[in-house]
Amino acid sequence: MAFEGLAARLQDTLTKIRGKGKVSEQDVKDMMREVRLALLEADVNFKVVKQFIASVKEKALGQEVMKSLTPGQQVIKVVNEELTALMGSEQSKIAVAAKAPTIVMMVGLQGAGKTTTTAKLANHLRKNHNRKPLLVACDIYRPAAIKQLETLGKQLDMPVFSLGDQVSPVEIAKQAVQKAKEEHHDYVILDTAGRLHIDETLMKELTDIKEMVKPDEILLVVDSMTGQDAVNVAESFNEQLDVTGAVLTKLDGDTRGGAAISIKAVTNTPIKFAGMGEKIDQLEPFHPERMASRILGMGDVLSLIEKAQTNVDEEKAKELEKKLRTMDFTFDDFLEQLEQVKSMGPLEDLLGMMPGMNKKGMKDLKVDEHQLVRVEAIVKSMTPLEKRDPAVINGSRRKRIAKGSGTTIQDVNRLLKQFEDMKKMMKQMTGMQAGKGKKRGKG
Ligand code: GDP
Repeated sequence: MAFEGLAARLQDTLTKIRGKGKVSEQDVKDMMREVRLALLEADVNFKVVKQFIASVKEKALGQEVMKSLTPGQQVIKVVNEELTALMGSEQSKIAVAAKAPTIVMMVGLQGAGKTTTTAKLANHLRKNHNRKPLLVACDIYRPAAIKQLETLGKQLDMPVFSLGDQVSPVEIAKQAVQKAKEEHHDYVILDTAGRLHIDETLMKELTDIKEMVKPDEILLVVDSMTGQDAVNVAESFNEQLDVTGAVLTKLDGDTRGGAAISIKAVTNTPIKFAGMGEKIDQLEPFHPERMASRILGMGDVLSLIEKAQTNVDEEKAKELEKKLRTMDFTFDDFLEQLEQVKSMGPLEDLLGMMPGMNKKGMKDLKVDEHQLVRVEAIVKSMTPLEKRDPAVINGSRRKRIAKGSGTTIQDVNRLLKQFEDMKKMMKQMTGMQAGKGKKRGKG
């Protein structure tokens, strides 16, 4: 799988800082040294790495992060945001022409995956956007290219426009667009020729096609397995053709990921799609933020932190943290915490955002919201003494609480046990935060 090495190294590095309640400048510097090495090893362009490190450092050492409640997590948040920005921030969608048909020209070196991606894209447009594309075979040099596209077209039950290998690609493109208009195709996808290396003849041909049909989108198909070469290729194509987007193919392979991370920053060309396998339905819109989260192995921690920031009263959170540290935590605090958690939205959503929570085995975890209501009722039926010191809750008190809350003695017993367990767990967690606990496993 792509990014494996990078992901493991970054996650290892970030784990060290994650739980820290206090982060020093030296901590950040140490961490960034490791992040830098990890990125360079993943074949990320060195200029991109340099810039990335500088901006993460600046932001991570800023006031907001260092003075926050959870500096360790905030530093990770910065890394995540910068990594996302590097790959393009928002998902960049395929063009739609004001007047149909939208003309898409696929370009790239031979073997990058142009022909395959042409078919994948057509399938994507039909399946997800209800479009009616026309595939066009403009690669008249590679002997099998026309046949390959025709076979894919048949497989998709989609028309392929071809004039054989004796007519110039410019003429083929022109006639294809005409035909698309006549037959009401709303997308025309031109599969152009590639070479093993960039040469003038190829570029001349591609610019001629571009002049002739004025495509709305020029998608550069690059093989992510070729690492920095992919970035160089992208730069050259971009200089000549002003490409409007990139498709990274073979991200399912064990590429180190450098191309994916560098290409936008170096060429300012957004990655629009990622090829995730040889099959026709293995093309995905490229989401920079999801890719970053995936690399950092963090679920959607970002949204979780943001949710917490907007919903939780900072003073109260501080107070709670202190109580947890001193183990002075009562049922009143418990109730208050429950209220805060509830104000953050459905529990299942929150759990889904936590790293590790969407992993195998945890997936089916369901949270019963009714259970929360019951818990609330039980706690509210306790006397102040009982809330402060649950140890006094004997048999007759349990009976009274159950009756008062409309629950059963079993419910009360269960809650008391859970409360004790929770206190124990929190004790362990605060121990971990202080650096005494065991190291976390990889995400
Ligand atoms: P072209 O010369 O640029 O038209 O390249 P092709 O479309 O013929 O693709 C070259 C090879 O790469 C073929 O064997 C494809 O099956 C394979 N390929 C294309 N995209 C992907 C991808 O996303 N993942 C994997 N694993 N293989 C791909």
